[in-house]
Amino acid sequence: MVICETVSYGYIRKASLKPWDSISENIQTCTGNDFVIDSQQSIGGGCINEAYKITGKTVPGKKVQTWFVKLNQANGLEMFEAEHRGLQEMADTNAIRVPNPLCSGIAENKSYLIMEYIELTSRGADPLQLGQQFAAMPKVTKDQFGYVCENTIGSPPPINPPVKYCLTFWQKHRLGFQLQLASRKGGGRNLQRKGEQLVCRFSALFTNYQPKASLLHGDQWGGNCSGDDEGNPVIYDPAVYYGDHEADLAMTELFGGFGGNFYSAYAEVFPVDAGYPVRKILYNLYHILNHFNLFGGGYATQAESMIDQLLAELG
Ligand code: ADP
Repeated sequence: MVICETVSYGYIRKASLKPWDSISENIQTCTGNDFVIDSQQSIGGGCINEAYKITGKTVPGKKVQTWFVKLNQANGLEMFEAEHRGLQEMADTNAIRVPNPLCSGIAENKSYLIMEYIELTSRGADPLQLGQQFAAMPKVTKDQFGYVCENTIGSPPPINPPVKYCLTFWQKHRLGFQLQLASRKGGGRNLQRKGEQLVCRFSALFTNYQPKASLLHGDQWGGNCSGDDEGNPVIYDPAVYYGDHEADLAMTELFGGFGGNFYSAYAEVFPVDAGYPVRKILYNLYHILNHFNLFGGGYATQAESMIDQLLAELG
């Protein structure tokens, strides 16, 4: 977490018309307590939204409260409602610490999401505890893959129409959809041709593997987890859906891995199938294609080489 600046409430209102009055009122409505904002600190480290730690009092001179607030343009409301829903669903599992969401809405032409503020430490989470707790969350399952709404890993969004089989979900709504976007973005003929071959053939990776639809974080790279001041792991900024737990596990490995005893601790709680090392490439291909669709550049080459690897595995 990077604290960028501290500003007084009066100054911010005059300077930039931030929606703090309405946000204060909504905190009062949702908690049932008076709340007056004293200050807000801009918090860096996020990718899409403005983020603030706001501090205030329940009534003047009484108990100090802090909240974590994300702001975006008014058309970001659906994104925040989806995040609100996902955070609540993860928090309800009691598997791992997640900021409790309070409310989301529109104020002064800005969309906002308010949640519990958690003091995150620079030493982060203990890998062993993180592995154990992160593995407990996907034990919560549903009958269908997908989610009740679309959510966001950057933009364009992951699409989540619920379907019965993991394979169909990945063929249509994960790889198929990202390949379509990549074609519009100019990913090149080879990427398209090989990608389509892969989509037709990767069912072989699921012949003896029928995963359950587990509750997933959906965007679990190292930047979306940390530790609280008592050392408990905390995860945040999800793009929740129900899917194969291996997809969340694979993403933890995408940018260098979580280290320590994370993976052995995870496997003790949620045993990992022997076919994971190959499916991991498939699951992470989705994120690389999504990166290409967001940022362009060399991600197309990376995606193509992952597809080559998978096609070689498929023989
Ligand atoms: P974005 O949606 O823009 O990616 P994040 O949700 O990642 O924003 O939040 C930005 C940063 O704020 C995170 O990297 C983390 O350091 C910090 N953070 C996120 N949630 C909380 C929280 N509930 N309490 C305190 N700090 C938080």
